[in-house]
Amino acid sequence: MQKEVKAQFIDSEQIDKTLVQSQAVDNACVRDILAKAKELHGLEMAEVAALSAVTDPGLIEEMFAAARQVKQEIYGSRLVLFAPLYVSNRCTNECTYCAFRARNQEVTRRTLTQDEIAAEIRVLLEQGHKRVLLVAGESYPDKEGFNYVLKSVDTIYKTTTGRGGIRRVNVNVAPLTVEQFRELKAADIGAYQIFQETYHRETYARVHVAGMKRNYDWRVTAVERAMEAGIRDVGIGPLFGLADWRYELLALMQHIHHLELRFGCGPHTISVPRLEPAVGSEVASHPPHAVSDADFLKIIAILRLAVPSTGLVMSTRESAEIRRKSYQIGISQTSAGSRTDPGGYEEVEGDFHSSQFQVGDNRPLDEVVREVAAMGFIPSFCTACYRSGRTGKDFMDLAKPGAIKYNCEPNALSTFREYLDDYASPETRAAGEQLIAEQLAKMDGRQQRIVTPMLARVNGGQRDVFV
Ligand code: SAM
Ligand code: SF4
Repeated sequence: MQKEVKAQFIDSEQIDKTLVQSQAVDNACVRDILAKAKELHGLEMAEVAALSAVTDPGLIEEMFAAARQVKQEIYGSRLVLFAPLYVSNRCTNECTYCAFRARNQEVTRRTLTQDEIAAEIRVLLEQGHKRVLLVAGESYPDKEGFNYVLKSVDTIYKTTTGRGGIRRVNVNVAPLTVEQFRELKAADIGAYQIFQETYHRETYARVHVAGMKRNYDWRVTAVERAMEAGIRDVGIGPLFGLADWRYELLALMQHIHHLELRFGCGPHTISVPRLEPAVGSEVASHPPHAVSDADFLKIIAILRLAVPSTGLVMSTRESAEIRRKSYQIGISQTSAGSRTDPGGYEEVEGDFHSSQFQVGDNRPLDEVVREVAAMGFIPSFCTACYRSGRTGKDFMDLAKPGAIKYNCEPNALSTFREYLDDYASPETRAAGEQLIAEQLAKMDGRQQRIVTPMLARVNGGQRDVFV
């Protein structure tokens, strides 16, 4: 075990003070903040607090419009798709909101063998997925320990079908030591993701009643150890519903600021999980600080304005309707067709009794892709950046207006073309053809000169074409 660092960068007093001061902010000041956000340099904590305090429906609409504009300028039209892969629901922790908590007798426990992981991956590959997020409870098989995670990553990469394999594995597992993170990096993972659940220390202590996870500081410093170990893309996020969401947003800003100071670069992504019902959990069904749909959308818009170059990730915890709205105002990556029970992809119906929580959007990938395309977004299966070394600060530097569209959109279109040819239903293919034609017509000359030969290569049978 390494020397523990006390996380003083989460300053509760400053958060509380800033939240009180934000109540006095007038409409003119809010409009100034929105104007500043549209310059794409992000926002300070006090400005985030001011936006969080807005209740006027007209001003909220202005906030959404600003977020839409920022999203379009930084990310263009693409929306990246992925699937989670739950490899084990065994856990030694007692997080009161999670079905996998150790003492929960209502859950059927399962840890997938490497063969079972390969079987799950084959199902995801047949659906068309290229990106997977490996997820596990904090308990690995006795004989293997953490090596189980490394073996699982290796199995995922090695499993292929006639049409190739998974091209990027991200990982969401319990905090590791720097040495373990080095091993994870050597296993060639894309991003390491971990949610603080709540940045509010007292709430954190209340909802984490047993196990390693009780240690707030060990958890909140996990992404720093990952970065120290050379993992340049990290993902963070609170679990909304445990404490006041305004507090969480400001603490998140402090966390990001701290990473920027220390590493010259903040997180690659922020996720916005919201508490969902879970078997054997009262807290999950009755969140102490439930976030309404209206506030949830506001959170997404504020984050888009505050950290314009950071990816925002939406899961299938949310309903199709919320997901649709969220793509417009900030979300840049989303899961689709997800199961949260180990072995769930091989089953016809998901098994809620071994799932982590109830999924809000059960639609298969093909249906989500069709809808995303019909909305005018390019469903992207791109994994180019991390394989081309565009990670960490290099990615952030590229994620400036006008720059990413010469990489992201071409790669989105070539991987989408591949999806349409290899996996799509006839209806999705029709919607996709129309979207590709519209996108090509909208592109400037330089973009077209990049994309046209890429699409020709995919049409000619090449796969994994990217710039
Ligand atoms: N066990 C590891 C950990 O806790 O860090 C790995 C991740 S855990 C399987 C995935 C995430 O699911 C947690 O970090 C938490 O934010 C989220 N989660 C747990 N219970 C949930 C619930 N009832 N509704 C929504 N999300 C939940
Ligand atoms: Fe275990 Fe993670 Fe669930 Fe907590 S959130 S009980 S650590 S799986």
